[in-house]
Amino acid sequence: MSRAFNFCAGPATLPEAVLKQARDEMLDWRGTGMSVMEMSHRSDDFISIAETAEKDLRELAGVSDDYAVLFMQGGASSQFATIPLNLLGDKASADYVNTGIWSKKAIAEAKRYGGVNVVASSEDSGFTTIPDQSAWNTHADAAYLHYTPNETIGGLEYDFVPDSGSVPLVADMSSNMLSRPVDVSRFGLIYAGAQKNIGPSGLVVVIIRKDLLGKARKETPTMMNYQVMAENGSMYNTPSTYSWYLAGLVFQWLKEQGGVTAMGEINARKARKLYDFIDTNDFYANPIDPRFRSWMNVPFTLADDALNGAFLNGADARGLLNLQGHRSVGGMRASIYNAMPEAGVDALIQYMTEFAKERG
Ligand SMILES: *Cc1c(COP(=O)(O)O)cnc(C)c1O
Repeated sequence: MSRAFNFCAGPATLPEAVLKQARDEMLDWRGTGMSVMEMSHRSDDFISIAETAEKDLRELAGVSDDYAVLFMQGGASSQFATIPLNLLGDKASADYVNTGIWSKKAIAEAKRYGGVNVVASSEDSGFTTIPDQSAWNTHADAAYLHYTPNETIGGLEYDFVPDSGSVPLVADMSSNMLSRPVDVSRFGLIYAGAQKNIGPSGLVVVIIRKDLLGKARKETPTMMNYQVMAENGSMYNTPSTYSWYLAGLVFQWLKEQGGVTAMGEINARKARKLYDFIDTNDFYANPIDPRFRSWMNVPFTLADDALNGAFLNGADARGLLNLQGHRSVGGMRASIYNAMPEAGVDALIQYMTEFAKERG
């Protein structure tokens, strides 16, 4: 068996050590005679798995007792509706920053539930930069300020946490959660679909400041009510138990790597290597404002689009998989999340060097 380097944007590569542990524990989790998938979510064994995962996430991300941690379902996209339903309260509107395709989806969904003010947008630039915060037209009476710290498709990442004053700051960290240190106390709510940096798809982790609980609209579906989720330990219904377990294994792996500080250093190095190579090789280009280049998702184009097919075929043959860019952007995209080893980035650069020499 050989494992490829999988550059897919999501579902994305998982740490090999995690998959091996899951394999070893598949039929018989620690002498229970059953798989985690087959356990009652009310059993002591599963409760210990769930609580350990939450404790490890709190430790990794530095989440204080002022926050509830929820393991919900429906991916990040269901949060696009869950957030306005729970947080608009008696406010007329919420502020949103538009920096790419995921921002736009969040905005479109929120508009179904209330007023949305797009307070800044980089659409004019083709989403290649982040608008300077001094020019954001934010509202002191907004229910919350929503932004997307890492635009997975465009490869655009904030290098700062916006200052939202007393307005709760809400962040879609689906593709950069736990990739570097972040001061959670700056946020009202953080959410992340699991399939980029945390675990299997379908699971979504929500970190919410407790004073924001209990404001859901009457018509909010019970399953989307943060307070109900918090009061029931995310087990109002049967949670996604196996995904929760796998996320827990990823958190343990991250702790063994030295936590988010160590990951941040490794991720910075991986990204710098790849961007430096792209910038110094005439055959490849990346369109993003260098200050806001994503550490997680690196889009790049070849000098001649007609060579895209040959590039992808050659990459596949070397076990460098899923490098095709998103259909809306074109070109290539290498997603290099926490679980992508530095050796994967090195192998990609080696291949890109040779391809440019032969075909450039
Ligand atoms: C992948 C992604 C989503 C969507 O996640 P789903 O779990 O598929 O709903 C939302 N936001 C960002 C930033 C993403 O990267």
